[in-house]
Amino acid sequence: MRHFAVVGSGPAGFYTAEALERAFGENARVDIIDRYPVPYGLIRFGVAPDHQSLKAVSKRYDKVVESAGVDFIGNVTVGRDVSVQELLELYDAVILATGAPVDRKLGIPGEDLPGVVGSAEFVGWYNGHPDFAELDPPLGGTHAAVIGNGNVALDCARILSKTRHEFEGSDIVGHALDALEGSAIRTITILGRRGPHQIAMTPKELGELGHLEAASPVVEEADFPPVEADDALEPGHRKSITILRGFAATPAESGTSKRMVFDFFAKPLRIEGEGKAEKIVVERTELDESGGARGTGETYEVPASLIISAIGYSTPPMEGVAYDERGGKFLNDQGRIGERLYAVGWARRGPTGTIGTNRPDGYEVADRIVAEMPPGSSQDRAGAEGLKQLLAGRGIMATDYDDWRKIEETEVSNARPGSPREKFVRVEHWLDALKR
Ligand SMILES: Cc1cc2nc3c(=O)[nH]c(=O)nc-3n(C[C@H](O)[C@H](O)[C@H](O)COP(=O)(O)OP(=O)(O)OC[C@H]3O[C@@H](n4cnc5c(N)ncnc54)[C@H](O)[C@@H]3O)c2cc1C
Repeated sequence: MRHFAVVGSGPAGFYTAEALERAFGENARVDIIDRYPVPYGLIRFGVAPDHQSLKAVSKRYDKVVESAGVDFIGNVTVGRDVSVQELLELYDAVILATGAPVDRKLGIPGEDLPGVVGSAEFVGWYNGHPDFAELDPPLGGTHAAVIGNGNVALDCARILSKTRHEFEGSDIVGHALDALEGSAIRTITILGRRGPHQIAMTPKELGELGHLEAASPVVEEADFPPVEADDALEPGHRKSITILRGFAATPAESGTSKRMVFDFFAKPLRIEGEGKAEKIVVERTELDESGGARGTGETYEVPASLIISAIGYSTPPMEGVAYDERGGKFLNDQGRIGERLYAVGWARRGPTGTIGTNRPDGYEVADRIVAEMPPGSSQDRAGAEGLKQLLAGRGIMATDYDDWRKIEETEVSNARPGSPREKFVRVEHWLDALKR
C-alpha cells in the first residue's frame, strides 16, 4: 500500500488527489491535509461571493474525498504542526498544494500607511478568512483605488460598488455586507501601468460592470489604440477590449451614484497622507518598444482613503523545501521539488490561470509519481495512522471529513435569508461548531 500526502485542499490539491486515486485505485491511500478544518482554499476564501456558480466546482471535489481511498485531515498546518521532512518519513510522496496566499508588495513609499491593504486581505475579509475578519477596511471616505489590471482588481472594485440587494444569493459574510452597505465610497479608480490592450481581465468579469445597479464604468476613448489593432488579439482578449470600448463610448449612467474609473497608463509612485492613506501620486506612462510601461515624467494625484493593491501573490517558503525567491514559489522542475516531494497549482507555477488550469498540474504530477513508484510496488510507511499519532502527541486536534461536514451544515443552517450560508470567520467558531 502506498501513502500519499497532498498538502492543501484548494483546486490543485483536489485534482492531484483525484489523479492519484484514479492511477493507484485501492493500492494507495491519499490524505488531503489542510491548515483549516474546512476545505477548498481560494474557492472558499478567494472566488467572489457573488460568483456562486463558480464555487459549485467544489461539488466535484466532494466526490473525490467521498471515494474510498481519499481522506481529509484538517486543522493541521504543515511547517508548524508537522514538518515536510516528517511527512516524507510517513508518506511515499508529499505533494505541496499550498497556493500563494501572500500579497506581493507594491514597493513604493507609503504602502504601509493605514488604509492600504492587499487584495488577499480585502478579499479574505469579505469571504470570511479567519486571518482577516478584523481587517475593518476604511470605507468612510468617498474615494477608493484599486491597483492592478487583472480579474482580482475587478472583483474588489465590483464588491465595493454593489448594493446590499445585489448580494442576494451570495455567501458574503455578514460583517462585510453591513460595512459595505454603510460605505461612503463613490469613486473607485482602477489603476493600471499600461493600456487597455495589456489588461488581464476576462470578458465575463468586465461585462458585469455594465449591469451594476448603482455604479457605472468610466473609460477614456483616448487610451485605446486604433480599432484595427484589436484584430491581432486572441479572441477572448479581443472580447474584453470590445467591452471596454463599449464603456468608453457610453456616457456614465446618470442614475448611478458610483463611478468606477479605469485609469490606464498610470504608475503609482508613492502613497501620501497624514498618518493614513489619502492619495496616490501617479506618473503618467506610455508603452515602450517592448510593450512595457515607460514613465513620461508627468505626475498627478488620485485621492483615495482606501487603497487595495491587487498586483499578485507569492507562496511563503517552507523549512526544508527549495524555494524560488524571484518567482515567489517552490523551486521545482515541472512539479518535482526533490526526491518524493512535488508541488502543484499556484505553489508550483505562481498565481496565474483559472481554477481549471490547476487540473493538468495535478494530473501531470500524478503521472510522474506513477512513473517513479508504479502501482503494485509496495513500501511500508505509516501514512495517516502515523501522522495522527504524531499530532496527538503534540496536542494538535486534527479534524476529519465528518467534522468538515458538521461545520458546513451549521453554516448553512445559520444562513440569513437570501444567502446560501453564514460562514464562520474564526477558527474558534469552527471548533465550537464541532462541540455542538
Ligand atoms: C481573489 C481571487 C479570485 C479568484 N477568482 C477566480 C474565478 O472567479 N475563477 C477562476 O477560475 N479562478 C479564480 N481565482 C483563481 C483560483 O482561485 C486559483 O487558480 C486556485 O485557487 C489555485 O489553487 P491552489 O490549490 O493552487 O491554491 P489555493 O486555492 O490557495 O489552495 C491552497 C490550500 O492550501 C492550504 N494551505 C496553505 N498553506 C498550508 C500549510 N502550511 N499547511 C496546510 N495547508 C496549507 C490553504 O488553506 C488552502 O486550502 C481567483 C483567485 C483569487 C486570489
